[in-house]
Amino acid sequence: MSKDHHKPLNKNNLNEKALAASKGKDKKKFLRHIYNSKKWKDIRNEYISEHPTCECCHFELATQVHHIKRFSTGKNKKEIEKLAYDRNNLMALCSHCHISKHLKNLPESVTEDS
Ligand SMILES: [Zn+2]
Ligand SMILES: [Zn+2]
Repeated sequence: MSKDHHKPLNKNNLNEKALAASKGKDKKKFLRHIYNSKKWKDIRNEYISEHPTCECCHFELATQVHHIKRFSTGKNKKEIEKLAYDRNNLMALCSHCHISKHLKNLPESVTEDS
């Protein structure tokens, strides 16, 4: 008599969905936290004062700061923060250029500092 019972591994996948959902919520919360952080506001204000003219049309006044690579694409907090606060990832734009940039890249609604 051979005793090779192969018990199926009892993988516990039940919590994966709930975990993913809470992760998504946490991410949104974290993105909002960045928008509201003093650090971001300081970087943003400093960046605009250093680049008062739109970096796209070089004509209009820059009123918005654009992230060349959206920081919401970061996979974790570290990556998101890096993208959000990296000056090399920023562009000072007027609202027209900002909208047209987003129309080209992503057909999403444009928030002021996206
Ligand atoms: Zn412009
Ligand atoms: Zn943008």
